Amino acid sequence: MEPDQELTRHYRIQLRSCGRGLSPPSLGRGLHCHLIKSGLLRRLPSLSSALFHFYSAVGSPSDLLRSFRSLSLPSTPDWTALISSFSRRLSLPSTSLRLFRLMRRRSSAPPDSVCLLSLLYAASRLSDPDAAATAHVLFIKLGIPFSVAACNTAVLVYGKCGLLREAWMMFDEIPEKTVVSWTVLLTTVLKWEGINRGRQVFDKMPLRNEVSWCTMVCAYIEAGLVSDALSLLAHMVANSIRNLNHISFCSLLSACSQSGDLCTGRWVHVHLLKTSDFDENESLMVSTSLIDMYSKCGRIESALKVFESTFQKNIVVWNAILSGLSLHGMGREVLNVFQRMISDGTCKPDDITFVSLLTACSRSGLIKNGWKLFHDLTHIYGLTAKVEHYACMVDLLGRAGHLDEAKNLVRDMLVQPNEVVLGSLIASCSLHGKLDLAKQLMHELVQLYPNNTEYHILLSNLCTTTGKHYEADFLRKSMQKQGIRKSPGISYIEIHGYMHKFTAGDKSHPLTRELYVMLDEVMRRLCFAGYIPDVSNQISRVEEREERELLLSVHSERLAVCLGLLSTKPGSQIRIFKNLRICSDCHTVMKLISGLYEREIIVRDRNRFHSFKNGSCSCSDYW
Ligand code: ZN
Ligand code: ZN
Repeated sequence: MEPDQELTRHYRIQLRSCGRGLSPPSLGRGLHCHLIKSGLLRRLPSLSSALFHFYSAVGSPSDLLRSFRSLSLPSTPDWTALISSFSRRLSLPSTSLRLFRLMRRRSSAPPDSVCLLSLLYAASRLSDPDAAATAHVLFIKLGIPFSVAACNTAVLVYGKCGLLREAWMMFDEIPEKTVVSWTVLLTTVLKWEGINRGRQVFDKMPLRNEVSWCTMVCAYIEAGLVSDALSLLAHMVANSIRNLNHISFCSLLSACSQSGDLCTGRWVHVHLLKTSDFDENESLMVSTSLIDMYSKCGRIESALKVFESTFQKNIVVWNAILSGLSLHGMGREVLNVFQRMISDGTCKPDDITFVSLLTACSRSGLIKNGWKLFHDLTHIYGLTAKVEHYACMVDLLGRAGHLDEAKNLVRDMLVQPNEVVLGSLIASCSLHGKLDLAKQLMHELVQLYPNNTEYHILLSNLCTTTGKHYEADFLRKSMQKQGIRKSPGISYIEIHGYMHKFTAGDKSHPLTRELYVMLDEVMRRLCFAGYIPDVSNQISRVEEREERELLLSVHSERLAVCLGLLSTKPGSQIRIFKNLRICSDCHTVMKLISGLYEREIIVRDRNRFHSFKNGSCSCSDYW
C-alpha cells in the first residue's frame, strides 16, 4: 500500500472509533487540529469526509456545518448523515428540513431511505404535513421500499396534523403492522375521533404492549371515566402486564393529577408498592409524580407522606413538594421546607424552586419574605431573576395593594416584561379599582399580544366594577368584533367513580330538575343566613339586578356542589375541579354552604386549592 493510503486508512479508523464513542471525542478533535497543523489535511483531502462523519456523530451544529462545507462533492451518505444528525441527535428539526431542501436544490445525489425517514421524523416533531407528504411522495417516486418504521412515523405525522384519512391510508398500507403501528394509530384515533372509536381500535389490536395499555387507560382518566380506567387497569394486570416501567407509572400518575382523579391515582400507588422494582433514579421520578398527583388531587398530607418516605431526595422531589404546598396556599410550610432543604445541603435551589417559593409568598401575602427571597435568588444563590420570578413578585405586590412598588419593579426589570407580568399587574389594578393604571398597561399589552383574550376581559370587568358602563360596553363590542370570547367555565365533580361535568346554567344532566330544586333551596337558606349576592364582577352588564343575580346563581361550581350535596353521604367531603378561577361570589357561597351543610368542600380552580370548612376558606380570602 502507498504510504499516503496507509496514512489515510489509519486516520479514518481512529476518527471512526471516536465517532462511535469507542474513543473520547476530544481525541477526534485533537486529530483534526493535528491534521490541519501538519498540512496533512491538504495532502489527503479524502479525510474531510471522515472528519465530517466524526462530527456528525458527536459535534455541535456549527462543527457539523463547517466540516460539511469542506466536502468538495457531498454524496448521498454525507447528506443523510447531516440531515439525520440535525433531525434526531441535535433535535433541530426545522434546520434539518431546511438542509433537506438545500440538498434537493444543490445536489444531484438522490435521498436514501434513512434520509427520508429523518425527514419524516423532523416532520412529526414539527407537525408539518407538507414535509411528510414530500417524504411520502419521494419514497414512491424513487422506488424505495417503505420500512415499517417509516410507515409508523408517517402515520404519526398525519395523525398529529389531524389528517385522519391519510393516517388511516398509510396504516392500511403497512404490510406487517407491529404493535408500534397499532399504538400510533390508537393515539391518533383517541385524539381526533374520541374515546369510543379509540376503544374499538384498542379492542381490535392483535398485540398490545405496556404503552398501548397505558395510552388507553390515560385516555379514560383524562375523559373523567374513572370506573372505565380502573376496570381496564385490572384487565391489564390480569393480562400479564404486571410490572409497569417507571415511564408508564409516571404517565398514568400525570393523567390522574391533570384530571384530579384521586381514585385511579391511589390504585396506581397501591399497585406500585406491590410490584415496583426500580433503580434509584427511576424511583425518584415515580416519587415526584406521586407527590404531584396527591397535591393536585387535594391530598397534601399524602403528598407529604410520600415526600418524607423518599430517600436521597433530589431537587426535582423538593421542588414537587414545594409547589404542592404552594398550590395549597401553605406559605409558612413552604418556607419551612425550603429551610430544611438548605440545611440538608445536598441540593441547590434552582429557578423552579424560586417560582414555587415566590408564588407561595404571594398566595399567603408574605411580602417581606418575598422580597428577601427575590434578593437572595441572585445575591446568595447565584441565579438570574427570570421573567417568571418577576411575575411572582408583581403578583405578590399587586395583590397586597402595593401597586406603585409593583409598577416600579416592572419598569426596572432587566428582562422584557411579558404578558404574564403585565397581566398580573392589571389583575391587581382590577382588584384595587385602579382604572387609569390598568388602561395604560392594557395599551402596552394589546400591542405586545394582540390575540390574548384574557386581558380584554379583565379590563372590561374592571370598567364594569368601577361603574364605567359605557367603556365596558365599548370594550365588549370591540372584543366581539375581534372574535374574542370568554372561555366557558366548566366544573367537574366525581361521584362514585364517574366524573360529572357542568357549564354555567347547564341543563344537560339527567338530574337537572332535582339539581335546580336543590339550588333554590340552598340559595334560600343562604339568604336567610344573610348572604347578599355580589354582582359587581359580571362580565355581561345585564340591566336588571335580579337577572344578574340569576346568572351568578347558576355558575357551574354551584351546580356541581348541589350534585355533591344530593348524591353523597351527609358529612362527607365534596371535591370540585374548575378550569377557571373561582369568582368571589361563588367563593362566598362555598364558605356559607360549608358551614350550613357541615361539609368540607374542596375546590381546585385554575390557580390553587380552596378548602372550605365551617364557613371559612383555607386561603383566608387571599387568592
Ligand atoms: Zn362564580
Ligand atoms: Zn378560598
